[in-house]
Order: sequence, then C-alpha cells, then structure tokens
Amino acid sequence: MDKIQMYRQSGIDEDVSRFGEAVAGRLKERFDQIDEIAEFNQMKVIRAMQESQVSEACLTGTTGYGYNDLGRDKLEEVYARTFHTEAAIVRPLIACGTHALSIALFGNLRPGDELLSISGLPYDTLQEVIGIRPSKGSLFEYGITYRQVDLKADGSFDFDAIRKAISDKTALVTIQRSKGYESRRTLSVNQIGEAIACVKSVRPDLKVMVDNCYGEFVEEEEPSDVGADMIVGSLIKNPGGGLAPVGGYIAGTKECVENASYRMTCPGLGAEIGPSLTMNTSFFQGFFLSPVVTAAALKGAVFAASCYEKLGFSCLPDAKEGRHDIIQAVTLGSPEGIIAFCKGIQKAAPVDSFVSPEPWDMPGYDDPVIMAAGAFVEGSSIELSADGPIRPPYNVYFQGGLTWPSAKFGILMSMQSMKEAGLIQLPKGE
Ligand SMILES: *Cc1c(COP(=O)(O)O)cnc(C)c1O
Repeated sequence: MDKIQMYRQSGIDEDVSRFGEAVAGRLKERFDQIDEIAEFNQMKVIRAMQESQVSEACLTGTTGYGYNDLGRDKLEEVYARTFHTEAAIVRPLIACGTHALSIALFGNLRPGDELLSISGLPYDTLQEVIGIRPSKGSLFEYGITYRQVDLKADGSFDFDAIRKAISDKTALVTIQRSKGYESRRTLSVNQIGEAIACVKSVRPDLKVMVDNCYGEFVEEEEPSDVGADMIVGSLIKNPGGGLAPVGGYIAGTKECVENASYRMTCPGLGAEIGPSLTMNTSFFQGFFLSPVVTAAALKGAVFAASCYEKLGFSCLPDAKEGRHDIIQAVTLGSPEGIIAFCKGIQKAAPVDSFVSPEPWDMPGYDDPVIMAAGAFVEGSSIELSADGPIRPPYNVYFQGGLTWPSAKFGILMSMQSMKEAGLIQLPKGE
C-alpha cells in the first residue's frame, strides 16, 4: 500500500492528498532552515543540562512543601542557562500561561504603578488580569493603572509614541511576542530588542516583560537575549515539548523572578516551597524535546500557509515569510469556514478524533470560540490544535503538531472537511 492509499483509508481523498504532496514537495528548503534552528536550540538545551549537571536523582520528585527538591532546582537552572537569564521559576503549580503572566505582573507592580503595553491590546485572558475589561481582583482594583501604545499599521513598534508614553509612573513595560488572536504580525526577537533598547534609552531602570507564549525555540535567540528582564510562558505550549501535563515558567533577572515568586506562593516563602510532585521527568524530557517538537509545529504551519494560500485564502504569516512563533492564521472569511476547518483538525487527532467541536462561550474570551484539539494533554496547543473566535474576519488559528506527519495529516483533513462543505476548490493540475 502506498501513502496515497493510506491517506485514502484515513479519510483523505486522492485529490486532496495529491495536492498536499505537490505543496509539500516544494518546501524542502524551508524545512531545512527550520531544522537548522532546531539543531542549534537542541544544543543549547543539552549544554544547559550538562552544565547544570542534571542527574538521575533529578528525575524523582517531592511532595508537601517540596523543600530541597533537587530536580526542581536543577530544572530551573536549566531554563535559566538556556534562556541566558539569572534565574527562573518553572512549576506545576503555575496552572497556565495566563497564570504565569499574572504572577509576573502582580509580583512586580505596586499600587500607584503604571503598566505600559507597547504591543497594543494584550491577549484576551490578560485583559481581565489587567482590568482592561472590569474583573474582580484585577491589577486595576489594586490601584495599578494601565496604558497602551498600539503597534503601527504595518505591525512595527511606534517608537515616538513609546517614548512619549513613558512617565515617572511607568513601572513595567510589557510586550507580547505572538499575535495571539489579533490580525497582526508576530514580533521578531530582533524587533523586540529594538523596542527594549528604545524603552531603556528613556529610562534604563524600567523593567520589560515579554509574553513569550508560542515563541520559544522558533528563533535562535529569545527576548531574554536582547534585554528583556523577564520572559514568561506556558509549558503546554512550546517549552513543555508535549510531555509537560501542566505548568508555566518565568525566567529573568534575579530581582524580577524573586518578586514573582512571592506571588506564586506567598511573601516570605517565594520559590523555596512548591513540590515538583511527579513532574520532573516530563518537564526535563519535554524541554529536551522542545526544539524538535517546535520545528515539527513550524513545518505544519508553513505547510498550512502554503496550501491555503494556493486555495485563495490570505494567510498570516504568508507562505514565504520568516516565522517568529508557531501560530498560523488563515482568514477563512465565514463562520462555516472556521467550523469546517476545526472539525477537520479534530478528525486527524490521535485522541478524541470521533468528537466534533462546536463554538462555545469560553471563560476569559469575549466572543464564542471554537477549539479543535484531540490532545494527550487537555488544552495543549503545542499539540495539533486549531481555534478561532467567531468574529470577523473569521480567522482560524492553527498551531502545533508533535510530529510533522501528524501536523500534515491535520492540514490535509482540514482541507478535506472544507472541500466536503463546498468551501474550497482544489486547483487543477497539481
Ligand atoms: C496562550 C497565550 C497566553 C496564555 O494562555 P493560557 O491559555 O493561559 O496558557 C498568553 N499570551 C499569549 C500570546 C498566548 O498565546
């Protein structure tokens, strides 16, 4: 049996799989570039593990208070070495990316301070943390004000407006690397470095935090290499490598990480307590795998853009441009498009392939959201997943895929589903 037959038995008709083969056949050079970055980052992680002298004893865990948790302490050292920061906290007690970001913000801001976002409106769930949308327990309720500088129309930083927005009150600047659910470009590490330099030229003492979600290991450098005082992310995205079942991290200067630690647990205790439970092996192993898992996800994203552009949809990033996160947005133009796409992704999953996703009012989001995920870890978006808020211009956000073939299968199945719903026509002669 050949591959085309195998796909046919898995629900992909021959037109779709042949179209996919033709598109994939033209991506060799792109994939080689992605593999080069993965190789570089793989070496960064291995060296960090070796230099930290990770040993078999690090793979067991602690319970209760978690005093003297060797594995936890070494893991945090490995993150700090990999990201070139003074310190890091990496914990299963951090429930998700929003929680990690919230800890970092609350820990480093005080009543009367102002938080300044220089990359426009932050990710949906953070709007409630900040109090942009009124919310119980928000920073706003604690007397921390918020100010925002939007990105320019071309998606670049507005340096003049940033300089003007910084005042004596400004205590922390936040930058979101990934586009999230916005129709804008993801920021490159290089661009982030320029923005940090601009901020520090006005006030060298000003702390800068970068929401690094979905960005880890996509480039050879991280925002912490270009001046960020803190980078923050989720372990059920890139750095968990698909193996971490929960968790978040904050890596940065000793002062920023320590401040955050008193919010993660409580004043006085900070990072001294907090058991790793049974997570150490999956956290280490997931971080070890993360560079190649991220590469698989990137290949899936490039393949998706290459297919959907050929089908006449606009893609962000487009099929040709460089990548700064693993997210692929495709403007499908209708609610039916988003729903058919997500149903296809779900059908290609290793887990829960037989269920059909529907839009729902998710906590933390303003519009109904549809999410397709048949993942080993609930909500994991380093695994093959797609989601989109049901609002114009009806973008679907596709991400993840622990392996390149599984990501490819997901995209093929999304096209099959779109085709069956009469929403796409495959080009002739592929
Ligand atoms: C995923 C994400 C977050 C955090 O989301 P959680 O679902 O709480 O993990 C924050 N910012 C961005 C840009 C994200 O992509």
